[in-house]
Amino acid sequence: MTNSLLLQKYNTPVPRYTSYPTVPYWDEKLVAEKAWIAHFQDAFQVDRGISLYIHLPYCEKLCTYCGCNKRITKNHGVEQPYIASLLKEWDLYLKNLPGRPLIKALHLGGGTPTFFHPDQLDTLIRGIFKHADIASDVDFGFEAHPSSTTRQHLETLHNLGFRRISVGVQDFAPEILEIINRQQTEEEVQQVTEWARELGYTSVNYDLIFGLPLQTPRAHPRHHAQTGTVAPRSHRFLQLCARTLDQTQPKGLFRSGFTFGPSQTGLVRTRPRFTGRDRLR
Ligand code: SF4
Repeated sequence: MTNSLLLQKYNTPVPRYTSYPTVPYWDEKLVAEKAWIAHFQDAFQVDRGISLYIHLPYCEKLCTYCGCNKRITKNHGVEQPYIASLLKEWDLYLKNLPGRPLIKALHLGGGTPTFFHPDQLDTLIRGIFKHADIASDVDFGFEAHPSSTTRQHLETLHNLGFRRISVGVQDFAPEILEIINRQQTEEEVQQVTEWARELGYTSVNYDLIFGLPLQTPRAHPRHHAQTGTVAPRSHRFLQLCARTLDQTQPKGLFRSGFTFGPSQTGLVRTRPRFTGRDRLR
């Protein structure tokens, strides 16, 4: 299929992918505990292995386009109780699973997983592994914010079997980063990429957004990522959700006066669904 046919095929409104099952499948009715247990026992097959997604919702600063489930805080005192709660929840699963789980895939998403100190992440992952078997061909990855990812984060997670990182770049241009309230530099992106390669991460991916104010085809982050001083192995494009900008963010965070250029006309046609729960603390 040609590129233009592929674009036509997939250029349709879809629910945000950040939750599974996606929000249209959520049911507001409370699920009875027995039904919940029966459901995951039914899905569990000892020999097939399981994939885990762990959501780490804290961020220090709110990006104006964000539609994720996050909590904005600079209070790092939240780390330890949150990790303890996650391990408590994991215990609930362990008590009810019909066998010892075999972990095949694990992804840390957010929020900002690297908001957490590497020692806290170490406690979390070791706590998860304690009563599980680990497959020989694991796929472990995490989302890395360039401004908060340290070499210690990368070392700690590499020692635990992580080999894939997804770096939240979004754009390289300082003026665009300022508009979206994202504080990071190209040097930080480059540094995280170099550390990851040195340490033996086999997949370094950049998340880039198209549809941001001031972006033009010539000053596009994909072009920069391919030709600039930094180069990931792959990049993932996320189309900016116009509704996220204009309807879900606290007033005043997004500077007015920016318009979407012709390359972003898809924005006005899409009907993205918002799934995040934005709150400032
Ligand atoms: S885009 Fe990512 S880093 Fe920014 S506020 Fe949302 S979850 Fe946090």
